Amino acid sequence: MIEYKEIRSKVPFKKTCDKCGFSVTSDDENFVDWQEFFSIRFTGGYGSVFGDMAEVELDLCQHCFNELLGKFVKVKQFDISGCEETQVEFEK
Ligand SMILES: [Zn+2]
Repeated sequence: MIEYKEIRSKVPFKKTCDKCGFSVTSDDENFVDWQEFFSIRFTGGYGSVFGDMAEVELDLCQHCFNELLGKFVKVKQFDISGCEETQVEFEK
């Protein structure tokens, strides 16, 4: 027999773009914007441009991510409709 206890936990519910202010919630009908949100969090190390041990956070909607960083990202798309996977270049 396994017995369970209730625990409290936090799950993301709302994401807001730090650039344009666009917000999306996890229960929005258009879950693509939720799913494609870009979030990064890290702690700056010694010599970091942000400062040693600085807590760095960034949340961007997919549109702002593409606007700011799209020309730098490397994107690979695969056509999986057939038997073979074919790499397709992403047009920027
Ligand atoms: Zn945005």
